[in-house]
Amino acid sequence: MPMYEFGCPNCGVLTTELCRMGENGEMMTCLECGHEGLLKHISGFSSLGASGGSGGRSCLPGCRGNCTGCH
Ligand SMILES: [Zn+2]
Repeated sequence: MPMYEFGCPNCGVLTTELCRMGENGEMMTCLECGHEGLLKHISGFSSLGASGGSGGRSCLPGCRGNCTGCH
């Protein structure tokens, strides 16, 4: 199964999930803030946002999107 990263548009936390082909994040809920409807990213394509800071890399558990002490 392919792995996808789902990014929360509300708090920016990325979640990596195994899922079926074609599945998107519309039915997923953010583990951090509970926002419904995540945005799918292709796993391994970690250059999203390049040097923009937040959003390009997975956050540690407990990160609320501000990434303080995270990365
Ligand atoms: Zn969130």
